[in-house]
Amino acid sequence: MKQFRTLDDVDVKGKRVLLRVDLNVPTENGRITDATRLERVAPTITEISSKGGKVILLAHFGRPKGRDPKESLKPVAAALAGVINKPVAFADDCVGDVARDAIAALKDGDILCLENTRFHKEEEKNDPAFVAGLAKLGDIWVNDAFSAAHRAHASTEGLGHKLPAYAGRTMQAELDALAKALDAPTKPVIGIIGGAKVSTKIDLLQNLVTKVDALVIGGGMANTFLHAQGVQIGKSLAEKDLSATALRIVEKAYASNCAIILPVDAVVAFHFAANSPSHAYGLDAIPPEGMILDVGPQSTARIHAAIDDAATLVWNGPLGAFEMAPFDRGTVVAARHAAARTKAKKLISVAGGGDTVAALNQAGVADDFSYVSTAGGAFLEWMEGKPLPGVEVLKLR
Ligand code: AMP
Repeated sequence: MKQFRTLDDVDVKGKRVLLRVDLNVPTENGRITDATRLERVAPTITEISSKGGKVILLAHFGRPKGRDPKESLKPVAAALAGVINKPVAFADDCVGDVARDAIAALKDGDILCLENTRFHKEEEKNDPAFVAGLAKLGDIWVNDAFSAAHRAHASTEGLGHKLPAYAGRTMQAELDALAKALDAPTKPVIGIIGGAKVSTKIDLLQNLVTKVDALVIGGGMANTFLHAQGVQIGKSLAEKDLSATALRIVEKAYASNCAIILPVDAVVAFHFAANSPSHAYGLDAIPPEGMILDVGPQSTARIHAAIDDAATLVWNGPLGAFEMAPFDRGTVVAARHAAARTKAKKLISVAGGGDTVAALNQAGVADDFSYVSTAGGAFLEWMEGKPLPGVEVLKLR
């Protein structure tokens, strides 16, 4: 059953379309360093424009406290025009007379970007009067910003209660991919969770063990689990005070028929630095002065086998300190294996989170996964099983 209205369900011709997008691109000294987000919003903008809709872009940029020229969307709108190869007009405010007049001047198919919604503190408060001010500017609301969907802000959620609401193409693709990964996946499903700490991913682990058939735990967080099980982990990064939490997660996994796959060996170094001398050790022989910085070769072989057994993979977090060679090896090798299985049509692979995207890019396989989410916080909250307000409001009732 269809859960959302999409652009297939509306004739946008002549309509003022308030389109919430993610234009929050990374910048350095005012220069855009990565235009991926602009490329992701391009299909929805182009489609609405080519169907004769008046495209009115709503987005936030950074975390301004009030109006701040350094966080204006004007240069981003100019860069977007280059990406979509069409003119993008700009209005210095997202509500009031300035926005109204700019919209009144639009012809069918034109594109206008409104200034940073967060220049108004009412945006993040989902203030009803502010929502009403935005709603006046459009005939329909299209949400294409999955990455902002974990926030109930005026432009990401409030508008959905005031105007007919539709998912944009990027949102639609993200929701389809995520549904295939956890909501209605082809079984068996494997999760790979890595990263530095258990403390930031407790909810995620608790949810995943009830949804997947096997869960690989790697990275610094695996050390906490190993320590809880009595393994001497030397000077490795670990949250020893979370031993009881780790054991509870393992118990919950067993109760849910989820196999937990922890490292069986480890790559250990004596300095937390790139290229510092390292060796693989069995878990019974980790040197007291050593630090576990990656999964070992036997663990990698087990992870391969587990990926081979799975039909669906969901992945967040690196398996080691991947920013420093050679401690990226476990992550890179597992990522390449998952990519090869995906290319061979044996696996549906979905990955997300900032470090994970960086690690997959480092492994050169981001394009070979079935879907890579750049959404960060929203992706993690989805993995935690939490309802996302900006998605909930799109659901057909
Ligand atoms: P997260 O943001 O929680 O996904 O954590 C990612 C960070 O975890 C990366 O910066 C990795 O370098 C770090 N990390 C992964 N494994 C280890 C490890 N064994 N020891 C120290 N840091 C690690």
